[in-house]
Amino acid sequence: MDLDFSPEDLAFRDEVRTFIAENYPKELRGKQDEGDELSKEDFLSWHKVLHKKGWVAPAWPVEYGGTGWTVTQRFIWSEETARADCIRLMPFGLTMVGPVIYTFGTPEQKAKFLPRILSGEDWWCQGYSEPGAGSDLANLRTRAVREGDHYVINGQKTWTTMAQHADWGFFLCRTDPDAKAQEGISFILVDMKTPGIEVRPIITLGGEHEVNEVFLDNVRVPVENRVFEENKGWTCAKFLLAHERVGIAGVAASKRGIERIREIAATELDGEKSLLANPFFRRKVAELEMDLTALEFTELRTLAGEAAGKGPGPESSVLKIKGSEIQQRLTELTLEMAGHYGAPYFRGFGEGDNEHPIGPGGWANRAAPSYFNTRKTTIYGGSNEIQRNIIAKMVLGL
Ligand SMILES: Cc1cc2nc3c(=O)[nH]c(=O)nc-3n(C[C@H](O)[C@H](O)[C@H](O)COP(=O)(O)OP(=O)(O)OC[C@H]3O[C@@H](n4cnc5c(N)ncnc54)[C@H](O)[C@@H]3O)c2cc1C
Repeated sequence: MDLDFSPEDLAFRDEVRTFIAENYPKELRGKQDEGDELSKEDFLSWHKVLHKKGWVAPAWPVEYGGTGWTVTQRFIWSEETARADCIRLMPFGLTMVGPVIYTFGTPEQKAKFLPRILSGEDWWCQGYSEPGAGSDLANLRTRAVREGDHYVINGQKTWTTMAQHADWGFFLCRTDPDAKAQEGISFILVDMKTPGIEVRPIITLGGEHEVNEVFLDNVRVPVENRVFEENKGWTCAKFLLAHERVGIAGVAASKRGIERIREIAATELDGEKSLLANPFFRRKVAELEMDLTALEFTELRTLAGEAAGKGPGPESSVLKIKGSEIQQRLTELTLEMAGHYGAPYFRGFGEGDNEHPIGPGGWANRAAPSYFNTRKTTIYGGSNEIQRNIIAKMVLGL
């Protein structure tokens, strides 16, 4: 593994830095600094800038709109966007269903959906989990029954992130109730405006509307919206989950998170000295930093494997576990720094709030909502207990 950047890589890094400095939407930056909740339009503002530049989907093959960057360039890109506190784009189109469509889809599906994912015209949601099917996903009961050239879908999905804004959803549905659990499932693309779909909000601990229940009542979907073969949707589902887990590690963003904690703790007072001078606090920061460095090397090993043509395997579970735990510890330390200033804002600031925030700044206003929100990271994308099972079986051979 060669960890030095070549002169070309360094030039690329400068190009990326300049591009972000000159093009990151100012209004979005302002909202982030204030700790405001971000809207769909906020997410789309950065998405559209990147689409215009041709940089919105670095990991996609060039023929479908990818950048053709090397693995190192992609690494630099994620480092630089995190360093500049750029928001992470919504993953459901770009890193989940997009790769499924260009890998398993028909030419018609590719032509119809991929350009709209890249432009941000279509927002997607992921309809996998159900009330009785989370970790045990293959237990899902949502039924798709074939009637001529349509499927008629009935059932319920839950925890569907951003379904309230989604134009399309990718749904796992049971198409053969008699087959073994994983063998009777199909991967179906559903227009969220189809009659019979009802999206009901679930409000999270931090007061945010991020997840939903989705009810499907006789929803008619053309058969041409099924990706890959009927009853073989599990193949697409697994492919998507392995890609989802690598992205979840969020190493670059966590590195920036530690830097921010150091910056803030250097100016916040703890008695007469800075918080960073407190040996107990400094020790927590150092421990977190060491764990993150170890994770970074695991990610680099995965990327080196990818550069050599190996897809993400079961070791992506290690990235998921350690990455999500580190994200939680970062928000714990931030809440500790905010102290009682974090308390009034435990449900976060929304648009239209007319209170004037107190305390040291946007980071403190967001400290409590972020802390609560980040509890999700060890649950979604396959809970960490399940990832430990995968490591035990697939990596350690236990
Ligand atoms: C904020 C958030 C957003 C989400 N977004 C989406 C989304 O957009 N689309 C979507 O489809 N899903 C989404 N999910 C759902 C997520 O994938 C599931 O919550 C997750 O897979 C766990 O399933 P469950 O909630 O049903 O818990 P369960 O499977 O019921 O598990 C409950 C507990 O038991 C443990 N457990 C279960 N089985 C085992 C086992 N065999 N060994 C050891 N421990 C076990 C689990 O680790 C967990 O701690 C989201 C979840 C959250 C919290």
